[in-house]
Amino acid sequence: MSPKATPAAIKLALERGIPLVNVKATGSHGFISVSDVQRYVMPWSAVSHADVRKLYFGDMDDATLMSIDIDDPASSSSATTAQLRPPSKRAKPCLERDPGFDLTEDDLFGDDEPSPAPQRLLPEAKNEKPRMPRKHTNSSKRVHCSPPREPLVSVPAQATAGPPAAGAPLQHEHFKRKEEVPRWHLILDLDNTLVHATEDDGSATTADGVHLFELTNDSGTVTKYKLRLRDGVRDFLQKAHEMEYVIHVYTMGAHAYTGQVLGILDPGEEILGLPNAKVMCRPDGGAVFEKSIAHIIPDRDQWRRTIILDDRDEAWDKQSRDHVLKLPPFVFFGPQPSAEGSPSVLECMMSVLEYVKRGVDSGFDINVPAALKSQRQSVLKGLTFVFSGGILKSIPPPDMAEESDHPYWMSARANGANCKFRFTDETTHVVSPHAATQSVKKAREDGLHAVTPQWLIDCAALRRRLPEQQYAL
Ligand SMILES: [Mg+2]
Repeated sequence: MSPKATPAAIKLALERGIPLVNVKATGSHGFISVSDVQRYVMPWSAVSHADVRKLYFGDMDDATLMSIDIDDPASSSSATTAQLRPPSKRAKPCLERDPGFDLTEDDLFGDDEPSPAPQRLLPEAKNEKPRMPRKHTNSSKRVHCSPPREPLVSVPAQATAGPPAAGAPLQHEHFKRKEEVPRWHLILDLDNTLVHATEDDGSATTADGVHLFELTNDSGTVTKYKLRLRDGVRDFLQKAHEMEYVIHVYTMGAHAYTGQVLGILDPGEEILGLPNAKVMCRPDGGAVFEKSIAHIIPDRDQWRRTIILDDRDEAWDKQSRDHVLKLPPFVFFGPQPSAEGSPSVLECMMSVLEYVKRGVDSGFDINVPAALKSQRQSVLKGLTFVFSGGILKSIPPPDMAEESDHPYWMSARANGANCKFRFTDETTHVVSPHAATQSVKKAREDGLHAVTPQWLIDCAALRRRLPEQQYAL
């Protein structure tokens, strides 16, 4: 039997993605009131909006739901005759207290793991992290799942031409999509993955595609921000959408900030506002200790088709980490902007997404972690390196060892290449910090590649064999 609730409570529950059957009713005549919904603390494994909808409204179609007016004073408070209209745009994530946590931002943004090799493309993420206004860091809130921004409004699956025109009939194909087709999920980080944002001292202009916005905190302090989208980000989102990924956002940014960034990334809410898409962010003044795949995808069976794109894999809990496709952080503001290059970083990541999806769908790889590993192994497959110029001297191999523990060597091996201590007939590449070595000379004579270690670093970071010319000695 459906629980009884006031229309306003139903609306709020829908906005927050809260299953009413789990809410304790304290209102008169056993009705669930708005404050009952407000008091409800969402469990970590929040159900999806579609689940909530089904749970409560069964097969009632959206047109019926939206044709009714929630403010109609004559409306009955029975659930089945609830008077609803579409919730406002960009519903706020629900922010709930959990007294069990008292972590601060410093726990959250702790030191990154040391990087084994010098990496031009991987500056210290910690230093580049845009700082959100800090307030009451001793607060004990947790991040929670927000509902989809337009819970009852969807656009056609393949929409490419902007939001539906005013007055156009709304389409709801997502609710009717065949559930038996396995879903692919893509969970996106925002900061330094899709955008770079930082506080603005007032000097920024909108030249070079910089977006400016302001946020006001509870005490009325206004902070200015400047934001730049990563090159090719909209093409990336569009392509991922066309590949039928359900695209979620999981950020440690505060929720007002997240709303601003989503508005810039996807102004028409054509991709990031679709039903089934979730947005998770940090509640204002709260802290999150670790991101987890389970917060977005509670159903473990779907994890094999879930991939996470983030510039920090250490931000994720252990069970999520194998699903993370780590990309070089995007830094636009500051003394050392990251080189996005050609192909762009996001183009390279899209190739990986394609590889992974193909691998799992064809049965070649059992799940996303396996496919990410096999993609990694394919990057420099068939190549044989010899290191020159004293690179390996810093970590001499034990006697008779066939493998070195040097980070360059291990990176080359992880990316599918063979490595030898000496120049052999199989050698395809000489890797050396400088050109004045015997091996480099021999490589040139034999028409082989002689490259700087940066080539190896960049290939590993972008997960693709980059043209050697730019790195040639
Ligand atoms: Mg990030």
